[in-house]
Amino acid sequence: MTTTEITSIAAITPIVDDLAPRFTRLSDEIWAEPELRWEEHASMAKQISAAEEYGARITRAAGGVPTAFTAEWGSGSPVIGFLGEYDALASLSQEAGATERRPDPDSGSSAGHGCHHNLLGSGSLLAAVATAQHLAAAGLPGTVRYYGCPAEEGAAGKTFMVAGGAFEDVDAAVTNHPTPMASASQWKTLAYAQAYFRFRGLPSHAGANPQHGRSALDAAELMNVGVNFLREHMEDTDRIHYAFIDAGGPSANVVQPSAELYYIVRSPTVAKMRTLYERVVKVGQGAALMTETEIEIEFDGACAEVLPNLVLEQRMQANFEELGGVPFDDADQEYGRVLSAGLPDGAAESMKRMLGLPTDSPVYFDGVLPLAPPAHRQQMTGSTDVGDVSWVTPTVQMGAGTAIVGTPGHSWQMVAQGKTPAAHKGMVHGAKVMAATAIDLLTEPELLAAARAEFEEIIALTPYDKPLPDGLVPPSLRPTYRPA
Ligand SMILES: [Zn+2]
Repeated sequence: MTTTEITSIAAITPIVDDLAPRFTRLSDEIWAEPELRWEEHASMAKQISAAEEYGARITRAAGGVPTAFTAEWGSGSPVIGFLGEYDALASLSQEAGATERRPDPDSGSSAGHGCHHNLLGSGSLLAAVATAQHLAAAGLPGTVRYYGCPAEEGAAGKTFMVAGGAFEDVDAAVTNHPTPMASASQWKTLAYAQAYFRFRGLPSHAGANPQHGRSALDAAELMNVGVNFLREHMEDTDRIHYAFIDAGGPSANVVQPSAELYYIVRSPTVAKMRTLYERVVKVGQGAALMTETEIEIEFDGACAEVLPNLVLEQRMQANFEELGGVPFDDADQEYGRVLSAGLPDGAAESMKRMLGLPTDSPVYFDGVLPLAPPAHRQQMTGSTDVGDVSWVTPTVQMGAGTAIVGTPGHSWQMVAQGKTPAAHKGMVHGAKVMAATAIDLLTEPELLAAARAEFEEIIALTPYDKPLPDGLVPPSLRPTYRPA
């Protein structure tokens, strides 16, 4: 760069600032009408109409996935993708800006945006529109494509989009996740698989003819007991969760002829996850054998662990450092301090320790974390379907600072902060970093080539281990589908 050239951050800042009010409103509107996985019809419609206002070409059902779409601008090569999400979580309705647990009085839904996907999707779309406007104004070639991705929460919508070929021509992808920490480092995530286990037995009078009954409920209970014993013999980073979908029925005097469980199995790689999943399947089969019931297993979905790309992270970090931390003001910090007093004991302290922050750092973190050396990255015990995109195209995911340090994920405190001025600032700030990084990829062929070279080298040694069985359609297209 010569001294007369202007940096990508400097170029994109006025464009993002100009667009910010529209996308802040979009985020608030999605926050106000939270929708669960596979049911994000209104949220998707709001996103599509915002993209159309800025001249996007829309493709619905991207990758064959309902409630997924793409919005595209420009033409030709390279193709840079932005990933956005908009699904919410059950049982988390919460009044915005409150400092105590209180359901949202204006919402007809019990759901809430406990993972700030309202900000995630609106921030990524804002970055995509800004990048497209910059490209058009400069008369530069290239395609900017925003991916509206449904069902990130407990369903891995992107994995189905990847399987459906939605990312085949993408040269690199950029995204964010709202978080208490502004960072360009990609933390390690877990691969997961989830499945329904349905047991079928024989009903009979539990008092008069118990010998003729075969209890599906017994099978489900034995499966859970068996899996609980399995927990002693798995790795520390592995996780297994379960829910009762069907416990038979309310009649205790009838041997229960049906029962259904839902299991989620997580492990650091797809291969390890698959091994653990197969052990859980054996426990289910054993429970059916013991109770002389039938078992039917429906594989529901899965996702891979995230593959980081250091070339992309280093550029994103440089852009982030040039822009600086999120400009939280005294009013933001004052609200944050009141909310912080009600966080679970030790939550803020342990997050500060993990990130190497001073104990007296402000409640809204207003700096930029240094890029974490890959060898020292924490293994997170959650998952994201960004993982599958990262195995088919070089992908970078930043943390956009939208919540106070120590805010637990999927909590009422997260929902309460989702439409505050501080959250809006974090979203807009993150959009500048994402857009600047995308502009660099669109205008510096050697940067994109380096990112792709790193990606190809890893893929040649360890190819994408697809976590979905061939031909598995998204849950919302199956005859067994029931909205969550
Ligand atoms: Zn999330």
